[in-house]
Amino acid sequence: MTAIATLGSHCSLQVLKGAKDEGLKTILVCEKKREKLYKRFPFIDELIIVDSFKEVLDQKCQSILEKNNAVLIPHGTLIAQLSSEEIESIKTPVFGNKWILRWESDRNMKEKLMREANLPMPKAVTKPKDIEKLVIVKRQGAAGGKGYFMAANEEDYNTKRNQLISDGIISKDETLYIQEYAAGVLAYLQFFYSPLKEELEFFGVDQRHESDIEGLGRIPADQQLKTNKIPSFNVIGNSPLVLRESLLNEVYTMGENFVNAAKRVVSPGMNGPFCIEGVYDENAKFTSFEFSARIVAGSNIYMDGSPYYSLLFNETMSMGKRIAREVKTATETNQLDKITT
Ligand code: AMP
Repeated sequence: MTAIATLGSHCSLQVLKGAKDEGLKTILVCEKKREKLYKRFPFIDELIIVDSFKEVLDQKCQSILEKNNAVLIPHGTLIAQLSSEEIESIKTPVFGNKWILRWESDRNMKEKLMREANLPMPKAVTKPKDIEKLVIVKRQGAAGGKGYFMAANEEDYNTKRNQLISDGIISKDETLYIQEYAAGVLAYLQFFYSPLKEELEFFGVDQRHESDIEGLGRIPADQQLKTNKIPSFNVIGNSPLVLRESLLNEVYTMGENFVNAAKRVVSPGMNGPFCIEGVYDENAKFTSFEFSARIVAGSNIYMDGSPYYSLLFNETMSMGKRIAREVKTATETNQLDKITT
């Protein structure tokens, strides 16, 4: 029988609960410092205790996973803690497409794939001197919004960058990515593409709550002007959102365009869960600033099923369970190579 394994963070509880509900063995690669936390959950069958997540690359860890016929479910922590080369070198079968994770981590590749998918994007600004409108300045990789800042012009950019460098939040030689700021209602659109059924499913929408940009919105403008603290976009948690039904058709089209573009650009394409992230403006026009090519932590709000999945499945279906269902079906029909890399 196949087992489901993942790193102990991000959405691991949801992933392993879903796997257990599907009757699969569950394995958690767990940092020593979090052992007590994860031992609270009876649906986790086995803990592989490590000092650092990098040990998932070690022979010891990989042979335990191999012995259990484990499929590794990648999530944001894997991307944040391991380089693309390291992820690509993992011997354990990775759910979905491990090659596309590089396209998520590298800002230029990310922009290329989004263009290929025809996603409407905010303009990228190549040099600080070209900043004309309000921009958001981002770091590479899945930094979770920490160390991001907003700038209105080159001088503002330099002042804030220097302050963050002297505060030790970003490093001097870090390449930052500058993008025009898109204002509107945040919406993180979560999908699942099944290569077995060759079908796209729309799972749900979440919003992120980010500190301290949200904190700033809670204080009056005159106090805001007096603070010289640079607010960051560090994700603290998520909450659910449903869209106007008239927006759903376009949501599916964007998802399909993304799946088709990924098929052309990075074989075997966008298999499994993914998320298109952006804002709706006052004309309900969507602008996408980001994608995640794997399960997002925002799916944790729907551990008991999402509104849109309750339309597609006559049972409670979380994203974790959906992944496990795909692994189970692929195992039973001898098609694991279709859903892993
Ligand atoms: P990201 O790492 O690109 O997901 O960005 C982290 C957060 O920054 C997002 O969740 C948004 O709140 C915000 N953000 C990123 N890019 C933009 C943009 N171009 N316009 C407005 N907000 C953005």
